[in-house]
Amino acid sequence: MSAPLSPEIRRDPGQRAVFCGLTGIVWLHRKIEDAFFLVVGSRTCAHLIQSAAGVMIFAEPRFATAVLGERDLAGMADANEELDRVVQRLLERRPDIRLLFLVGSCPSEVIKLDLSKAAGRLSRLHAGRTRVLAYSGSGIETTFTEGEDACLASIVPECPSAPAYSAPSLIVAGALADVVEDQFARLFASLDIPVYFLPARRAALETPIGPGTRVLLAQPFLNATARALEERGATIISAPMPLGAEGTQLWFAAAAEAFGVSAERLDSATALPRARARKAVEALRSELAGRRVAFFPDSQLEIPLARFLKRELGMIPTEIGTPYCNRRLLARDLDLLDEDAVSEGCDVDRQLDRVRASRPDLTVCGLGLANPLEAEGLTTRWSIELVFSPIQGFEQAGDLAALFTRPQRRRDRLAL
Ligand code: SF4
Repeated sequence: MSAPLSPEIRRDPGQRAVFCGLTGIVWLHRKIEDAFFLVVGSRTCAHLIQSAAGVMIFAEPRFATAVLGERDLAGMADANEELDRVVQRLLERRPDIRLLFLVGSCPSEVIKLDLSKAAGRLSRLHAGRTRVLAYSGSGIETTFTEGEDACLASIVPECPSAPAYSAPSLIVAGALADVVEDQFARLFASLDIPVYFLPARRAALETPIGPGTRVLLAQPFLNATARALEERGATIISAPMPLGAEGTQLWFAAAAEAFGVSAERLDSATALPRARARKAVEALRSELAGRRVAFFPDSQLEIPLARFLKRELGMIPTEIGTPYCNRRLLARDLDLLDEDAVSEGCDVDRQLDRVRASRPDLTVCGLGLANPLEAEGLTTRWSIELVFSPIQGFEQAGDLAALFTRPQRRRDRLAL
């Protein structure tokens, strides 16, 4: 990929208010059907995961926390021995687990528990039955979508090499709702582009990767995953994120170009869903056009979302805060967005002052900021909902737009 030409991005480092990387387990444990996520952390971590993911009544959960006790935290017990015992018990009870993730947390990092080493040891111990990988979901200096990035990056080195001289294939990287993945798979099949999804729903470690692999990112926060794929010889295709009719069309167009599919063939394959997407978005445009929107840094989806809201719905971004911006991976979104209102980092207090002064029509922010801002008369949208919801692709473009009309509609109803 060539170096991006993008507008100036301000940096405003300081305190931010975001969830930690453990949050990714909430959607990843549903996505990778034969995996289990074992958080090695404190009661706080267990509480976060349990309340964020909810309790599954009818199914065995695919996540749990190995709680580090005071003796572990004080270095008085051998945490590795205890971890081995916990994993042994877990695998005896749950022989269906093919892939076990040990997920590091702030406490496991503070006591310097080396989970990568533990994963190697446990993989050897349970060879032929369960593979054990490790990644960090710690909340130290991270934001919550980095959990998914770290998880996918841990998968990449374990995948087999694509056979030399095999035909090029595509990997779509980033966890997608099954319904979205199925739509994308059908469209790629109609273009004769062989596609794998990372993570795969099952057998996540069997995706072949090699110099013939081309990668389309379906999520903008996969910095470490992109690096890991490139280390395996794969090439990242430069594309905007598949949000909205325009973003999805350009995303498919980038893949089509990389695989030598003609523009006419792409146009005819996407004509119907693209028309449906445009119609669905257009139906909501009058509610949002001309309204001002501000983003607090949270999910790292802020830049592609602002691009969609500006270009397809006519909204005016007043401030686009994002925790981190990888200019290379987001080059196409930044070019389309063409705004100098992007700021990276963002000290929460200073940004709150700015938002209170400018009073945008809609503020996209984390859960912790939404209620106080609502109480001050501002209309908010929880950014985490945009990560949980199926929003990518043509068929979801209308639902994505509706996520931004709903807060105002709710406020209007309450005012009646
Ligand atoms: S990983 Fe850190 S931030 Fe996340 S719940 Fe555990 S202690 Fe809290």
